[in-house]
Amino acid sequence: MPAEWESLDLSSIDLLPKSYLTIRHPRMRRVLRIQATICAAAREHLSSLGFVELLPPIIGPVTDPGIRGAKQATVDFYGREYKVMSSAILYKQMAIAALGKVYFLSPNIRLEPPDSAKTGRHLVEFVQLDVEQANASYFDAMELAEGIIAHVVKRVLEEHEEDLKELGRELKEPRRPFKKITHKEAVDTLREHGFEASYQAEIPWEGEKLLSELFEDPFFIHDYPKEARGFYDLEDPERPGVLRDFDMLYPEGYGEGASGAEREHRAERVIARMKATGENPANYGWYIELLKAGVPPSAGFGIGVERLTRYICGLKTVWEARPYPKVAGVYSP
Ligand code: AMP
Ligand code: MG
Repeated sequence: MPAEWESLDLSSIDLLPKSYLTIRHPRMRRVLRIQATICAAAREHLSSLGFVELLPPIIGPVTDPGIRGAKQATVDFYGREYKVMSSAILYKQMAIAALGKVYFLSPNIRLEPPDSAKTGRHLVEFVQLDVEQANASYFDAMELAEGIIAHVVKRVLEEHEEDLKELGRELKEPRRPFKKITHKEAVDTLREHGFEASYQAEIPWEGEKLLSELFEDPFFIHDYPKEARGFYDLEDPERPGVLRDFDMLYPEGYGEGASGAEREHRAERVIARMKATGENPANYGWYIELLKAGVPPSAGFGIGVERLTRYICGLKTVWEARPYPKVAGVYSP
């Protein structure tokens, strides 16, 4: 290893075009080994609970539209347009109809806005641990997500004491149960800290960071307003305008780590929600047909693997938690 490497700052965006070299950096090698343990531990936990791992789709006629200002990538499919998965959520609903408890490690592409390169938490290519369970509530889903995080951290602590020490990370087993606050409580807290968040919208990145700095363990924000999320999060029948959904945030300023929900699976409601959010149901051919054929109610979530790795390893940026990282606007391997 070249001597000057010792002082390299791997969080520098200027190094991304040289990722074919920085992947060999001792810090990077430690992170990648820990990441392998993270994936193995998540699989171990889900498999012990009877979840079936499926191979993820990469392309398809439609993908998740609810991607906060990012653009979808497309490929030419014999003269027709296919989308590259921005999230495989619609395919999870297809799969639970067959198998009940499923997950995949799903590669996603989102052409995030150029600004996102500055957040240190947005990649253009990333992987979600994408989990779905039939006949489950969003509280079941939160418990499952918490169980995965706890098991993964335990395994990493068991197997990577030296790596964590060398990375300068003091990782603790998170205290359980993780705290749960509603979206309204989250907005109240932000306003108390002088941050003007809206009760009717998604919490902006900077707000999530601020909230996350107030906590020492991962925590949940649940019950987002209808305006904040896509057509597949279920609106609470008892509380119109409130969704049965959640985010999991990491503490220490790391911000959002997962999003999940109970699903709206009734075709006519999904069509109405699509229209209300400016989506054309005609573009969702197979998905609407699937819902009309009938799928069980379900709940699930997606945990970003690179963001989880960033939190566990205590890294400044998410691109230090990924081999060959792609970041908005940066042309790199
Ligand atoms: P979303 O459906 O947008 O909530 O994405 C689910 C999870 O995937 C998030 O909670 C993140 O952990 C991860 N994720 C989403 N977008 C990105 C991105 N651009 N870069 C890295 N991870 C992401
Ligand atoms: Mg999210």
